[in-house]
Formats: sequence, structure tokens, C-alpha cells
Amino acid sequence: MRKSVLNSWGRILTGRNPILSIEITRECPLACPGCYAYAPRHLGDDVTLRDVSELRGPALVQRVFQLVRLHRPLHVAFVGGEPLVRRRELSEILPHLSAQGIDTQVVTSAVGPVPPEWAEVKRLRVSVSVDGLQPEHDERRKPATYDRILKHIEGHRVTIHCTVTGQQAGRPGYLEEFVRFWSAVPETKHIWISLYTPQLGETSKERLSVEQRRQVVADLRQLRGRFPKLAAHPAVLESHLNPPGSPARCKFAQVSTCLSADLETPVTPCQIGGSPDCTECGCYAAAGFEAIGRHRLPIGIRAGALFDWSLRVGAVVRRLREAAHPDGRDDSLEPRPDPALQPAPADSGRSQRLTLSRDP
Ligand code: SF4
Ligand code: SF4
Repeated sequence: MRKSVLNSWGRILTGRNPILSIEITRECPLACPGCYAYAPRHLGDDVTLRDVSELRGPALVQRVFQLVRLHRPLHVAFVGGEPLVRRRELSEILPHLSAQGIDTQVVTSAVGPVPPEWAEVKRLRVSVSVDGLQPEHDERRKPATYDRILKHIEGHRVTIHCTVTGQQAGRPGYLEEFVRFWSAVPETKHIWISLYTPQLGETSKERLSVEQRRQVVADLRQLRGRFPKLAAHPAVLESHLNPPGSPARCKFAQVSTCLSADLETPVTPCQIGGSPDCTECGCYAAAGFEAIGRHRLPIGIRAGALFDWSLRVGAVVRRLREAAHPDGRDDSLEPRPDPALQPAPADSGRSQRLTLSRDP
């Protein structure tokens, strides 16, 4: 943990974001209520993920490698849409990034089998989205039902990620039942809990009331000692009650570069897109960064103050670099691209789309 914070700090000082998040496809066979990606303003006025173009096959693989050379991230997250739709491309991309010491994460509904070869990829986290207990989840996320998830993650060690919505938060004991179930699944390595983040002005059943947020955090505090797989650090839980409040104050947003499926259009202000209500942010990652920022260092200052100073230094370094290298190349400051990150030779060119059957 300490090493990755230090690495990230070093990257920020060079004016680069340590996190790159890529919507690897615009396709998804699910239609989850409350989905951020297909919300009407995900990419600005009336533009959703479905409206952008997308790449496939060798062109997609090459473009991802280009982006990694350009941004030099420490962590790359592949989100969607459903990333398993591009599993052949990812099976090529993930081992290369791993060989470069880059951490990767694939956020999936596990609507299809997680490729067996991914179990051998070091530094890869497969994060499976599960929306509550079976009856609610199966209703919200069919065809990625509990039965299919359990079958599709066999042989892997995955992170189960639940985004708690208003519907789940109202039921006493619900979270405990959820954490107990997934703790007993051998394939579960960690359990992460986020809270639903609404858009500004949103009125929906997913949105939690202030009282519900407090209750969820109280439940998690009570569960964390009893279920070792549950990641619920007290400082992170505290951040859920006191979110950043605006994108300008969100450290996670400030260190992330998020791109949509055309691998050009930025997703702002963070990977949620649209106009999220940061005063009710429930993102697990944002809460983690917030918790680190509020931590007081032995030298007496908050880590967040040091972080803000580093961002300002990094912005100056970036401006200097961009002035010196307007084409985006930066051979003087960066190590030369590793051959392993060069694109693989084009294959037969066949369509690499995975057909995700609704009834496997
Ligand atoms: S699986 Fe993800 S991208 Fe697909 S509809 Fe559900 S929330 Fe949206
Ligand atoms: S991660 Fe949360 S606080 Fe940060 S910009 Fe997104 S919604 Fe706002």
C-alpha cells in the first residue's frame, strides 16, 4: 500500500495521472436500473456510451497500448459496457500490461465466463458487480444472475463489488446476509461496498436518504471485524459520510484519466460521468483516496495538503513537457517504450466480439 501511494505520488509530480480508466466497449447485454454508462448525460448533453464509436480487434489492442505509452499509468481499469464482450482483446492486453508492472482491473457483470487464462495474469483484479442478494440482483441484472456468476467465476479469485441502493438499504440485516453469502464463496477474495451515487437532482429508488447512508455505514462498521474478506477500513467508511463534495475536491477524479469507447472522448468529471452529486458520492475508490488525503502525516500535515501541492507541481511539469513536445512524445523524461508494449501483429481480422448468450 505504502509503495503504491509513493509510486502514485511520484507519477503526480511528473504531471501524469496514475490511473487510466477505459470504457473498453459500448456494448452490454444487461439493462441495469441506475446504470451510469447509459444514463442520458453520461458523456454530456444527450450523449450516452451507446452513441460513441468503438474499436475492436487489433485496432483496439494497438490503441490501448498507445494510450498506455502516452499516459504511463500505474493502474488501468477496464470498464464498460461489459468488458467480457472484448475478452479476446483483453486476453492479449492484460498479460502485456502485467509484464510492465501495471496493475489492471476488469469490472464485469460476469454474464459470460471469465477466461481461464486470466487466473494466471499477475496484478489483475477481476471485480464482479453484484447488486444485493439473489432475488434483487437477479431481477436487476438478468441475464447475469447469481447462478451464472457462480459458474462463470470458477477457478478465479475475484472481488465482489456491491453498490448499495436505496432499495437494499431499507432492510435490516440485508448487508450482513450479503456479506455472509459471498464470504463463504471460495472464489471471493475481497468484498467491496459502494453506495449509489446519484446524478444532480436525481429522484430515483436507487438514491439513498441521509439516514440510509448512516445506517449502511453503521452496519459496515459492525461487520468489518467479523468478515475478513470485507474491505471496510474505518477511514473509508468515514469518507462515505463526508464525501468530497465537488469534482474539484475529489482526489480520485483528479488523478484519473477516463476515456469512453472511442478511446478519445473523455468521461468527466470521473468514471461515473454526467453530473454526479458529489455531496452524495458513494464510490469506494473515491472514499479510499479521500481517506488517504485526510490522514495526518508524522510531519504534522495532512497527506491531502501534500497531494494538492504535488498536483500544482505536476501541472507545471506537464505544461513544460507539452510545450517541449506538442506532439505528445516525451523521450527525454520517460523511459523508452518496452517492446512488450508494442502491438501484437494483426491476426486474421475475424470479428472478435464475444457473443454473450442470454441463456448459456
Ligand atoms: S452491466 Fe454495467 S454497463 Fe451494463 S447495464 Fe449494467 S451497470 Fe450498465
Ligand atoms: S468520484 Fe465521487 S466525488 Fe469524485 S467526481 Fe466522481 S462523483 Fe464526484
